[in-house]
Amino acid sequence: MIIAVDLDGVISDIHTIALQLFNMEHGIGAKLSDINQWSAVIGGHEFAPFIYKSIQDEALHATLPVMEGAREGMVRLHKKHEVVIVTSRPNTPTPWILEWLKVHDIPYHWLLNTGHAHKGLVRADAMIDDYPGNLEKFIGYQMLFDRPWNQDCELYNRIRSWDSLGKE
Ligand SMILES: [Mg+2]
Repeated sequence: MIIAVDLDGVISDIHTIALQLFNMEHGIGAKLSDINQWSAVIGGHEFAPFIYKSIQDEALHATLPVMEGAREGMVRLHKKHEVVIVTSRPNTPTPWILEWLKVHDIPYHWLLNTGHAHKGLVRADAMIDDYPGNLEKFIGYQMLFDRPWNQDCELYNRIRSWDSLGKE
């Protein structure tokens, strides 16, 4: 099978870095669970700009942590399937992403940055993503990676953690 795996929020723990920036900027102590929707507004402040900030600055980008269990999960998927990491990051130079994947020793067959294009244009048998809007347009087996900001979505096959991926 060809499996499309999202980068931000599934492999990279971008929200942790964005949350640190957000809290510093606004002098508050928001938690990950406070990001309870895609366009979260916390304490009257929009969170999303801090996500974009984290992937448009080379030094910050290099500090993005790996999601718990993601490397091991990617190793399992990579052994059995053709794995394409699919990200929509129009403003991140691809070499930054390649370097980050190399530093963290994350296996994959392909990296596809769709830029401004939506992920429904990707051809794969399955897609894992934390954003329901990406899965909605995708034709194939849709897997929603469980995160605080997609709790209100009742569609798709919810994946609770990396532990449940690639072991079947
Ligand atoms: Mg994502």
